[in-house]
Amino acid sequence: MEYETHQYDVLVVGAGGAGLRAAIEASAGGVKVGLICKSLLGKAHTVMAEGGIAASLGNVDDRDNWKVHFADTMRGGQYVNNWRMAELHAKEAPDRVRELEAWGAVFDRTKDGRILQRNFGGHRYPRLAHVGDRTGLELIRTLQDHGIHRGIDVFMEYTVVELLKDDGRIAGVLAYDRERGRFKVFSAPAVVVATGGIGRAYRITSNSWEYTGDGHSLAYHAGAELIDMEFVQFHPTGMIWPPSVQGILVTEAVRGEGGVLLNSKGRRFMFDDIPENYRSQTADNEEEGWRYTQGDKTARRPPELLTRDHVARCINREVKEGRGSPHGGVFLDIAWITARLPNSEDHIRRKLPSMYHQFKQLADIDITKEPMEIGPTTHYIMGGIRVDGDTQMSSVPGLFAAGECAAGINGANRLGGNSLSDIIVFGKRAGEYAAKFARDHAGGKIDSAHVDSAARKTLEPFERAGASGAENPYSIQHDLQEMMQRLVGIVRNEAEMQEAAAALKQLNARTARAAVHGHREYNPGWHTALDLRNLLTVSEAITICAIERKESRGGHFREDFPDKGADFGKVNMVVRKAKDGSMELRRDTIPEMPAELKQVIEENK
Ligand SMILES: Cc1cc2nc3c(=O)[nH]c(=O)nc-3n(C[C@H](O)[C@H](O)[C@H](O)COP(=O)(O)OP(=O)(O)OC[C@H]3O[C@@H](n4cnc5c(N)ncnc54)[C@H](O)[C@@H]3O)c2cc1C
Repeated sequence: MEYETHQYDVLVVGAGGAGLRAAIEASAGGVKVGLICKSLLGKAHTVMAEGGIAASLGNVDDRDNWKVHFADTMRGGQYVNNWRMAELHAKEAPDRVRELEAWGAVFDRTKDGRILQRNFGGHRYPRLAHVGDRTGLELIRTLQDHGIHRGIDVFMEYTVVELLKDDGRIAGVLAYDRERGRFKVFSAPAVVVATGGIGRAYRITSNSWEYTGDGHSLAYHAGAELIDMEFVQFHPTGMIWPPSVQGILVTEAVRGEGGVLLNSKGRRFMFDDIPENYRSQTADNEEEGWRYTQGDKTARRPPELLTRDHVARCINREVKEGRGSPHGGVFLDIAWITARLPNSEDHIRRKLPSMYHQFKQLADIDITKEPMEIGPTTHYIMGGIRVDGDTQMSSVPGLFAAGECAAGINGANRLGGNSLSDIIVFGKRAGEYAAKFARDHAGGKIDSAHVDSAARKTLEPFERAGASGAENPYSIQHDLQEMMQRLVGIVRNEAEMQEAAAALKQLNARTARAAVHGHREYNPGWHTALDLRNLLTVSEAITICAIERKESRGGHFREDFPDKGADFGKVNMVVRKAKDGSMELRRDTIPEMPAELKQVIEENK
């Protein structure tokens, strides 16, 4: 077949914060940069981010610095993080935030005109630079404007379906345009994958339609390793009622501004279970918790601001033990602050404008007057493509990864705010090192036989239309989401996950029969059929890693192994594609942390 072909030095797949930042940096490195994204520029998932960007600027509390941020991140990740990434992230995030400001981002301000920072779960001091609760929008807008002016070529509404290699090294990608369904080949010696997460593998999720695990799956099938895929974050506060807003996130900033969690008895149940390693940092009474949210530096944070994994499990416990809300969650109440603050309604509307408008318009709930009914929602994946901490290169030469699709920085659990900082810190690094790689290596040869077979595979669902046993891709997707939610969700056990592993085999067989009607133009059924391969790949990786990790840690909770296992605290789960096409799993020992970083953790206990 003949394909339109484009040539770049660095090709970035994904135009969220990580992809845009990578493209900007690669372009600054003097190479020719192309950027491909599935949706329109400016619509990547990053745009939905609400609460803020974690960076130890120390503007609100001058006790903050990179060391405290590093220690918080490692504690939150329960020490299976890539410590080098956690170190670089904590050290470089402040500069990346200041740089955004220099490029035009208009952050909320302290009274003396510096970037304002807010409290968030697991962060010892107010650390999140923010723009109301629309921080992601400002971040994307700023990077997009800056990127466009650098002269990056952007291909919008293109889906990459295959990574192409030459002699073991990356050589380019095959993509199709979603409008017309036409194929394009892009060749480049360096490719940065920045495709975000996997939330659409689950039924209840805060994630957008784009989150089908494409980058994880593309990299895996190209020979890259994935690590720690069992660590999926269920954000504790997704709306569960009414149905018009089900799954939509209620930002942690609501709790940062004083919102409290209540069970059906009206009790603040988070005070009932404070983990030992957080006890010294956590308020033991409501009064102290309130003072913390209002900036009292002598107060400790309220237990509602413990890490997400813990809060999600406490909510689960309340529901299981019969103290849940009418629709199977608990209540999140910010309206109560009217008892403490004059003008509380204005205050809430000013601090949380999107929360207020979104729920008023979509659900007729006025959060300044009434509580929200919330429960855990699939939100983020800590696991992903294994990368070198400094360069972001994967185990495939020339293939880089950054942002949510890459793994390491967050360990077993991500602190809120650490993703927006991750994507700008490591997006920059990925762009810088991809440009360097491209300068040092000539482009590889595109294997036309590989391109043809990948293109043919992409078109197979059309050929199956009307065949006996043909399957509807939407039904397969629905069944997969139901199954993952039920069997590999927030609370896991061996028997259910073995059932999931068997169900995945069946779903794979059904996917081989997935059929679509019509033609390639504007055909969402076809797009869904193509998403299935990615969703199934990431679901299998999550399931087999979760079976192997026979302990509970961070986002991974097993009722049959409810405690942490000392040995598991020293390993990452690694999956890669074996020669026979199966998914092979091994445990890799985490490299020893240098003494100076151990000391930083010790000093910040
Ligand atoms: C509601 C919500 C609120 C959040 N709030 C915060 C917050 O306040 N602070 C924080 O730190 N984190 C927050 N997060 C998490 C954070 O927003 C994400 O983790 C982060 O934005 C991911 O950025 P990214 O650049 O890795 O990916 P994305 O922004 O998702 O970008 C992925 C890009 O890849 C493209 N893509 C995907 N697949 C393909 C393909 N096959 N071919 C071509 N292109 C492809 C997409 O089109 C998109 O352009 C929030 C998440 C949600 C859902």
